[in-house]
Parts: sequence; C-alpha cells; structure tokens
Amino acid sequence: MDDKLIKKLREVAPSVYPKDLDFECRSGWYDILLKVGLALQKMNVEGGWTEPLIAGQIKEKFGTLRWYANPTNGNMEAAQKIIREAEHQSTKTCEYCGKPGKLRKKGWFKTLCATCAVEDEKITPEEAAKERLGL
Ligand SMILES: [Zn+2]
Repeated sequence: MDDKLIKKLREVAPSVYPKDLDFECRSGWYDILLKVGLALQKMNVEGGWTEPLIAGQIKEKFGTLRWYANPTNGNMEAAQKIIREAEHQSTKTCEYCGKPGKLRKKGWFKTLCATCAVEDEKITPEEAAKERLGL
C-alpha cells in the first residue's frame, strides 16, 4: 500500500490503525480500509467499550482481504459485521487499482480487474476483451 494512503488511514482512524501496523495489501483496497477505519473509529469513540478495537493485522491472503482485530472481545459483534463486509468487498474490488474485479486463480490468487489481470498475466488480452464485453 502506498505510504501516502497509509498516512491518510492513520489520520482519519488513529484509534483503529496504530503506527506499527503493516498494511500487507495493495492500494486498490484503500477505499475499503478507509470505510472500515471510519466506522470503527466512530465506534471506538462512541461505543463505550472498555478498550478500543484495534487492527492487529491487515493483509491479502488467497486473493482477498483479511482484517484481524485486536482484541477479539465480546463487544465486537457490530464491528465484526463491518469487518466481514469489508472482506466481502475485497472479493470484487481490484487490489491493484480499486476498479471492479474478480478473484483470479491462475498462479497466486489475486482479485483483479481485467486490465490488471492482463498486466499480471492472469488472463490474456483476448480474455480481458471478452470479459469487458460480458462474453
Ligand atoms: Zn485493476
């Protein structure tokens, strides 16, 4: 993930994204992480929890986002819903550029748009053209 985007995430959700957290995914998922960050930041401030919910690990695994929270306490039901939705969004958002994408299973699994999938040699330009035409 681009350093400027990481800085922005920490600015808008300081209680959620600590300074020592690594963002082990690419910049295309920035909007997803921003949305989770803003929602959980609000919950941390207003939720009346004994301790704030902090991102413990954020990474791409088998082509989709994994968002691990810390602590994993009993207050987390509402938060988990937000996190699960974000992980679901990552299954249809290009990890590289943020455009609509889908899970590509050639080689390392990656969720990519047609253009990025060609650049990553997951599909051929012909396959990408067909996909864009909905064929
Ligand atoms: Zn893309």
